[in-house]
Amino acid sequence: MIDLFSQDEIRGRGMTSQRTRDRLVQRLRDKGIRNESVLNAISSVPRHLFVDEALATRSYEDTSLPIAAGQTISQPYIVAKMTELLLAEGIPNKVLELGTGSGYQASVLSRLVPELYTVERIKQLLNEAIHRFIKLKYENIKPFYSDGGWGLENYAPFDAIMLTAAPREIPDTLYQQMAVGGIMVAPVGAKDGKQSLLLVRRTSTGFTEEHLSSVSFVPFLEGCQ
Ligand code: SAH
Repeated sequence: MIDLFSQDEIRGRGMTSQRTRDRLVQRLRDKGIRNESVLNAISSVPRHLFVDEALATRSYEDTSLPIAAGQTISQPYIVAKMTELLLAEGIPNKVLELGTGSGYQASVLSRLVPELYTVERIKQLLNEAIHRFIKLKYENIKPFYSDGGWGLENYAPFDAIMLTAAPREIPDTLYQQMAVGGIMVAPVGAKDGKQSLLLVRRTSTGFTEEHLSSVSFVPFLEGCQ
């Protein structure tokens, strides 16, 4: 049996309280996030429960933070921005996230879309994330242990796909698993070189691509560990 998080744990206190979270939301608004549903989701998902206890007091700062296995939980602004992009043309029904990590981005998305699939290649991270989903009763998240480069063939096509680690190029398999009318947002590029956020749309005749801002993500790696 896994115990659920208590309301007190979810609510937080001091540096993890609702007031601190509201300040983060205001900051995201100031930085240009406009989608109120996205801001509400950021406000409601307790980011302090996705990082090590020692880092909890920093969890509502607008910065990325280290998680286990040398990975990072993305900066809240980036989470909000990528989520906003994915929802720009309406609510996608079935969404695939590649790179579960702490499970934070998946949790934010799960508050906004009906079905959220998420894939992670590091077993330890995935197991910890699954515990969080259960303890928070986020029941529409379906987690998978796999190399995300393969997508999830059995559940495709997806209305939206989000990568939270950066491949040099997006694997062709992922393009193929987009629904027509679907959207994909991904950081692309070398680890130490320049990465940019790529927005892909699948139309009835092919794919369109748009490079947005420059970003910095951990690399998208092959295989599982
Ligand atoms: N979305 C996460 C961000 C974690 S960092 C969060 O909110 O916390 C990116 C994650 O992508 C890491 O956990 C890393 O292990 C994972 N990753 C990298 N390459 C991957 C791949 N090919 N398939 C699945 N996950 C991958």
